[in-house]
Amino acid sequence: MNEHTDFDVVVVGGGIVGLASAYKITLSHPNIRLAVLEKEDKLAAHQTGHNSGVIHSGLYYEPGSNKAKTCTKGRKELVIFAKRHRIPYEICGKIIVATNQKELPNFERIYNNGRRNQIEGIEKITPEQIREIEPFCEGIAGIRVPCTGIIDFVKVAEKLAELIVAKGDSNKVFTSHEVTGFDKHDFYTNVLTNKGNFSTKYIINCAGLQSDRIAQADRVEPGVRIVPFRGDYYELTEQAKDKVKGLIYPVPDPAFPFLGVHFTRTVENKVECGPNAVFSFKREGYGKTDFNLADTWEALSYRGTLKVFLKNFRYGLSEYARAFSRKLFLRSLQRLISTLQDEDIKPLKSGIRAQAISRNGKLVDDFMIERRKNSIHVLNAPSPAATASLAIGEYINKIATEQFKLGKN
Ligand SMILES: Cc1cc2nc3c(=O)[nH]c(=O)nc-3n(C[C@H](O)[C@H](O)[C@H](O)COP(=O)(O)OP(=O)(O)OC[C@H]3O[C@@H](n4cnc5c(N)ncnc54)[C@H](O)[C@@H]3O)c2cc1C
Repeated sequence: MNEHTDFDVVVVGGGIVGLASAYKITLSHPNIRLAVLEKEDKLAAHQTGHNSGVIHSGLYYEPGSNKAKTCTKGRKELVIFAKRHRIPYEICGKIIVATNQKELPNFERIYNNGRRNQIEGIEKITPEQIREIEPFCEGIAGIRVPCTGIIDFVKVAEKLAELIVAKGDSNKVFTSHEVTGFDKHDFYTNVLTNKGNFSTKYIINCAGLQSDRIAQADRVEPGVRIVPFRGDYYELTEQAKDKVKGLIYPVPDPAFPFLGVHFTRTVENKVECGPNAVFSFKREGYGKTDFNLADTWEALSYRGTLKVFLKNFRYGLSEYARAFSRKLFLRSLQRLISTLQDEDIKPLKSGIRAQAISRNGKLVDDFMIERRKNSIHVLNAPSPAATASLAIGEYINKIATEQFKLGKN
């Protein structure tokens, strides 16, 4: 490797995708000099640290898509990784529950996707079987998915960072280092940060909610914009917690790449309810009224966002109403567990999804990774990217090895 730069590879972003990619690269190129630069003072501070903590099975995704391919592979590898490194996880299974006739065509589509994606052990279940698994849940048909699990993704991210650094003295993981731009030269790039500059031969952009901006700073037109969608969670109170044994999901609306408000028992034995999905006026704003002028202007002046809003105006309004009304949120939970009462839930947290939208107003469903001569840009890595992270990391290692000819120069 070239000794005239500080690093061979700089990964922008210390979320689970950046760390898994860095980990896979350091595993297959032991002599590499690699740095992960994370702007926050801790790792996994955004999507990775604000998600549902579900190890997804891979049944929802279009057969043949990157999501379908990497989710199943990544899930299996994640479980082995968690076992080896003593990260708490549990394969508790989940059920998807249809509550009315209108949902049945989509219910069938998901089940068939699951079969085509060869998800182990999935089966259709009757209303009686739903009650046996989840005594408080009512539905007209269900799918049991035994290989779904729960995990703490922050612990996975922290372990990955530890392993990257342990691989060699020339590997670094820096927090509180915000990448502010790139000074490009023919054979190297100076990565500009708030803590000084680092020269590197190659860049891998895994900046999540900021990934389109990092791509543009690297003179790559991403062809999409990241639009933030906030998801709010409630939690079941101590006295209501026993109404949910494991994970209960609705049949998702096929028009959106979100899974719908669900119940998740976590590794800390809490029961989380959510998340909804509303446009956020700030990319990293977790409060309901958070606002950032630049983020809002950028999102709303983009043709793609306007098209999405026009097409889904009524849906968007009802999601907003639900975000501000505890009563409406509770009502959507009652579709699955009708006996839940207002005193059974309390507000918990929010997460922001980085959702890529194309200029023609399409919510990009699949993972999107662009490669250039000296850089790779992960431009859409929504759910289930945490589950799939080790498989995505493996894929990024593969294309980095080819594209950058790692190990050969
Ligand atoms: C509400 C919600 C629920 C979800 N539930 C699940 C689930 O149950 N299971 C699942 O598999 N997936 C789930 N996901 C999706 C999953 O969390 C994400 O797909 C995954 O965390 C993406 O990881 P990432 O590393 O790409 O992004 P992030 O975790 O957002 O990491 C990107 C990092 O880049 C850093 N960064 C940005 N700009 C810069 C800069 N200029 N300089 C340096 N660093 C920078 C950020 O600070 C951040 O830490 C959920 C997501 C959300 C939001």
